[in-house]
Amino acid sequence: MPTVFTHSTPAQRVRFGAGRATEQVVAEVALLGARRVLLVVSRSAATAGAAIAAAVPVAATLDRAVQHVPAELVATARGVALDAAADAIVVVGGGSAVGLAKAVAIDTGIPVVAVPTTFAGSEATDVWGITEHGVKTTGADPRALPVAVVYDSALLAGLPADLAVASGLNALAHCVDSLWAPKADPINAAAAAEGMRLLATGLRGLHRAARDQVALEQVMAGAYLGAIAFASAGSGLHHRICHVLGGAYGLPHAPMHAVVLPFVVGFNAPAAPEAAARITAALRGSDAAGAIRELEADLGAPTSLAELGFDPDRAREAAGLILPAVPQGNPRPVHVQDLEGIVAAAAGHAATRPAEQERPTS
Ligand code: NAD
Repeated sequence: MPTVFTHSTPAQRVRFGAGRATEQVVAEVALLGARRVLLVVSRSAATAGAAIAAAVPVAATLDRAVQHVPAELVATARGVALDAAADAIVVVGGGSAVGLAKAVAIDTGIPVVAVPTTFAGSEATDVWGITEHGVKTTGADPRALPVAVVYDSALLAGLPADLAVASGLNALAHCVDSLWAPKADPINAAAAAEGMRLLATGLRGLHRAARDQVALEQVMAGAYLGAIAFASAGSGLHHRICHVLGGAYGLPHAPMHAVVLPFVVGFNAPAAPEAAARITAALRGSDAAGAIRELEADLGAPTSLAELGFDPDRAREAAGLILPAVPQGNPRPVHVQDLEGIVAAAAGHAATRPAEQERPTS
């Protein structure tokens, strides 16, 4: 953990309250003085979108969101925003819908109010991503950060269990990776630690009762804390690996993160004792990777990349693609053989078992 750091806390208002999304959005639109709202809404959030549309001055609506934010869709959405002379964007949906709103905001400067319906956490970061010709480009831009986030657990009560688990574990990955990412610092480590505790407790609660409001709110709060920690600390080894795997092999975003996470933790933990202790304590396990694996087993999370469609025989090829993306300052040096071991193990090949990974090597 560095003792010299510069930490910026992005300015964003957070409103929290079950069943209050519409009134909270109305308050935000009033604060912005907006009169022509572009409503971006996931099909899965149509009911919430309709309630909000009835309460704010909507000038145009976009009801299509696609994973990884295709450039053609962004061009259409920007055109709609400009034609409608929109002065605010209200987005209701998962990370894909929020991503589309952010992509419009970076070009037009129109402020965004986000109402998330998954635990993706994109609403709390200034990171945008756009995919063109199969290549996803990402960047950070202050205009991409929503001015306000409205969390309403009632909107997540219908989230299918497998989606809730994968999305929640993706949020856990934000927390974990922020502990050793290039700009890790004690402020985002504190947010990440509390985020991990809330996510583990809440996800176990949701596993027992899918619509439990307290558990939903624990996961939402944990996901927010993970997102702000991640936005501040930057991408660590886990996210760099997943970014390459997702782009090169088209693996589903959240489940892939759930599968890869314990293997990266098993690799890094021996060289990052403070981070490992935080993970172990937050998850109440006996070791960092084991605690994550135990949580994932309790939740019935996917356990191999092979079951997500990755060919284990491509682990060596994948390692070669990941190597140039390895972040500077990872707690231990990362060689191509290490990456091959992590990917092969995550793929379901027993090339490197987690217990062996936790032993420090050169
Ligand atoms: P998503 O938005 O694609 O949603 C997944 C599925 O769940 C969709 O079919 C959607 O319609 C459905 N859904 C959403 N909310 C629902 C609800 N409440 N009830 C029922 N169904 C619902 O996926 P996601 O995991 O939320 O987001 C993934 C995307 O977000 C990826 O493109 C990823 O790159 C991006 N992301 C970006 C950041 C960032 O900081 N920029 C952070 C995390 C994720």
